Amino acid sequence: MIVMKFGGTSVESAEAIRRVAGIVRERLAQRPVVVVSAMGKTTNKLLEIANMAVGGDARTSVLGILGVLRDFHLEQAAALGIEDSLNKVPFGITATFKELKQLIEALVVMRELTPRLIDTISAYGERLSSLVVSAAFNRLGVPSLHFDARSVIKTDARHTQAAPLLKETYEQLRISVPSVVQSGSVPVMGGFIGSTLDGVTTTLGRGGSDYSASIVGAGIGAEEIQIWTDVDGMLTADPTILPGGHRVETCSFAEAAELAYFGAKVLHPATVLPAIEKNIPVRILNSRRPEVAGTLIVSNPPPSDKPICSIACKRNITLVNIVSSRMLMTHGFLRRIFEVFDRHQTSVDMLATSEVSVSLTVDNTRALDAIRSEIESFAEMTAEKDHAIVCLVGENIRGCPQVSARVFSALGGTKTRMVSQGASQLNISLVVAAADLVRAVESLHSEFF
Ligand code: ADP
Ligand code: ASP
Ligand code: MG
Repeated sequence: MIVMKFGGTSVESAEAIRRVAGIVRERLAQRPVVVVSAMGKTTNKLLEIANMAVGGDARTSVLGILGVLRDFHLEQAAALGIEDSLNKVPFGITATFKELKQLIEALVVMRELTPRLIDTISAYGERLSSLVVSAAFNRLGVPSLHFDARSVIKTDARHTQAAPLLKETYEQLRISVPSVVQSGSVPVMGGFIGSTLDGVTTTLGRGGSDYSASIVGAGIGAEEIQIWTDVDGMLTADPTILPGGHRVETCSFAEAAELAYFGAKVLHPATVLPAIEKNIPVRILNSRRPEVAGTLIVSNPPPSDKPICSIACKRNITLVNIVSSRMLMTHGFLRRIFEVFDRHQTSVDMLATSEVSVSLTVDNTRALDAIRSEIESFAEMTAEKDHAIVCLVGENIRGCPQVSARVFSALGGTKTRMVSQGASQLNISLVVAAADLVRAVESLHSEFF
């Protein structure tokens, strides 16, 4: 068995879904299990509708946008010739949108959006796309059975960032999925969504369909987990910052995890965890160019002669400087700082310390004012927005003493605000002003690739 996960752009329209059906049909001998994201930008639209509903927008305009989303799904279903078959089932497109409309109407009245409601609403994207894709497969000659992912992916109740309960989930997967595959059908389920043991809908966090795919792969003991997306694989630079990067042919689980954590959106950061646990190769592939070999992620890739595998970037970073109000750092200073960040559930990405000061970066500034007011009882704190992290990742960094020298000479006059190396031995991370990001990535990319 293999798991094939198709992201939002890969299922964004009837035409894209036809392409996906073709890709799956050619791989039926490998006994695929398919995981899909919501169609196109559906998740963003659902969240926008929910926010409008509680934000005081007129009921008619909120329902108007919801109507556009419903019509889009109906039109794509019609173009695939599955409109009738889908609307006959009790949970077809029209019925599902009726249910969602009731929920949105309740939000307009209540004007309150809890994390639990956010999950319930954003889950409609994958609920709908999996229905559409499964029906389309059947119509296009790929026998398929639709699975409601919420009945197999079991999670804790940390809404919008739920963690899978692996024991329960693997058990559900083993009970229900392989028998369907043996019977010659392709199971199709939505990524991103799950439910608590009580059956309350949850989600694994934005971009979480990759994670779902690898949980499914580990649960059924798949031979490979394929992440089908809109680029040729892991590229040597984020294409939204520097187009024209090269495809990385192979990389290690550790490199992929580090790149994902530092902003390579092509993979959700948790994706490799279940794959590592069961040692299942992960392959990133392009659904528009299926003939390209993509990027193969394994535990021990063949040795590479390059020190760097790829350069990842994280935008919208805030640099926080904290200076002890005593002359020297007293013991317990760092603990006090991190307790404050912990209380406000704000994670820190990078860190540097000196005798009396600590610099760190955060990407979530929601609680920064509250953090500042607590920190100011024992230290001074300043925050500077509009920064970015540039992270060079490669297993060979640890063996190449010249890498840092090459990094700084390539950067030339670009001012770096913070540098970190050593935590994992396979990355060098730099903080630069947002305005310098493109220039920094260009210089580093031409130095190393
Ligand atoms: P999907 O909807 O298929 O999950 P995503 O948008 O989540 O797709 O991820 C694919 C995108 O990741 C690419 O279109 C690209 O813009 C972005 N990306 C960022 N860094 C990288 C990288 N190093 N290599 C490839 N893609 C990257
Ligand atoms: N549809 C979800 C999102 O947009 C999950 C995913 O695409 O991976 O975040
Ligand atoms: Mg994604």
